[in-house]
Amino acid sequence: MNILAKLTLRFSIITASILVLFSASIFVFSAMFRSAEFYDRLESRAITTARLLVTVQEVDKELLRIIDKNSLPALPEEQVLVFDKNNELDYSSVENPTMDYTPEFLDRVRREGKIIYKKGDVEQLAFNYKEEGYADYIVLASAYDRYGRRKLANLRMILLLGLLVGIGIIVPTGWIYSNQALAPLANINNQVASINAGNLDRRLDEGNRTDEIARLAMNFNQMLIRLETAFEVQQSFVANASHELRTPLAAMRSQLQVILAKDRSAEEYRSTLQSLLDDTDAFARLTTGLLHLAQSNVDNQRFRFVPCRVDEVLFSAQEELAKLHPDYHFQMDYGTLPDDEEALTVLGHEQLLSIAFLNFMDNACKFSPDHTVHISLLSSPKLLEIQFNDNGIGIPPDEQDKIFNPFHRAANVQGVARGHGIGLSLCQKIIQLHNGEIKLKSAPGKGSSFTIHLPLRQAV
Ligand code: ADP
Repeated sequence: MNILAKLTLRFSIITASILVLFSASIFVFSAMFRSAEFYDRLESRAITTARLLVTVQEVDKELLRIIDKNSLPALPEEQVLVFDKNNELDYSSVENPTMDYTPEFLDRVRREGKIIYKKGDVEQLAFNYKEEGYADYIVLASAYDRYGRRKLANLRMILLLGLLVGIGIIVPTGWIYSNQALAPLANINNQVASINAGNLDRRLDEGNRTDEIARLAMNFNQMLIRLETAFEVQQSFVANASHELRTPLAAMRSQLQVILAKDRSAEEYRSTLQSLLDDTDAFARLTTGLLHLAQSNVDNQRFRFVPCRVDEVLFSAQEELAKLHPDYHFQMDYGTLPDDEEALTVLGHEQLLSIAFLNFMDNACKFSPDHTVHISLLSSPKLLEIQFNDNGIGIPPDEQDKIFNPFHRAANVQGVARGHGIGLSLCQKIIQLHNGEIKLKSAPGKGSSFTIHLPLRQAV
């Protein structure tokens, strides 16, 4: 069942229930009121008859009967019976009374004072009549409330008709109301249906920007902005990646073309092959970096985090880099490292952390004339702080944010050192994966300092 049908149904059920309840209570209260009012009238009629009978000695019973029958407030099918203290019938307003009574019942009336009861639709009443200076009498009265019941039947008819008409109006009204309430949603639905990868720049109409639907549209627009940005980043990543991959391939190809153009000496072949070997190494590093970057972008869940000793990871990264670049210098300052190994342990992925550390060290060395990186490690109760400092070329202030974007290289590194601009972006992803953060301080010509904070395992 769709929301429109559900809303219509609920609206109709609720409104119809209220209408039924309202009509039912009108009917029930009217019936109660009719009954109470009729008993009052019956009682006052019976009292009048009894009073005339008991107090006016001159009234002959036959005469009283005539008066009873013909007086204006006489009730339909009215019967009044009066019993003396011996339970003998002293007076009856009709010649052949049909009211049932037994001496036990009359005694009970005498004890209880007044009993109200019914025989079928006929209201009956019995009470003990006392008049000062006279003996007690029991009066039984009954009548049929023809007018009251007819009025009640009419009322029931009107209420039932009203109910039917009401329900007949409620259902279409509910449908119109629900349709109107859902119209903005349907409108949004149509707009959303027209958005696809080709027109992510489209935005939904935000209406009055205050109600719930407008807020939904606004949130959806925010999501579109994020998607569009992610899509653009992805597209530029692919474009940049293919460019980065094509350039070294083109360089290798032209080296091969040059060497194959004519016969060369063994020495020339050797040096070209060596250069090609260097290029393929660089190419392999680039593809590995791209792969890591793509993986860290796509799927955070697939990395299994285990306890890692950061000082050990730093050592192994340093050793690996030293093998690749024997001319690099590493100055380790581990300050006052705690004995407690927990104070050096983070929950992480050893290989990823090693890639990040190696990158920071590599950058520090390759962008410094002295090829030296100063590494320090500090432990606090919750964090581990790792710093990579150098006295190199530094990073221009306006580029310090951008260097974490994939493929971005600062203007001052051209001709200083080779690279593809993906290392820092990968480092940032890796540190974020470990719930850490990177802070950068750098001054062109003076050097750079990358500070990494990682939460300790015991603090997680
Ligand atoms: P790559 O080193 O391959 O160029 P990275 O992503 O590692 O790529 O670094 C991006 C850019 O950040 C570098 O090109 C350089 O401009 C700047 N950079 C990073 N580290 C340093 C550093 N220690 N000193 C100066 N510049 C740096």
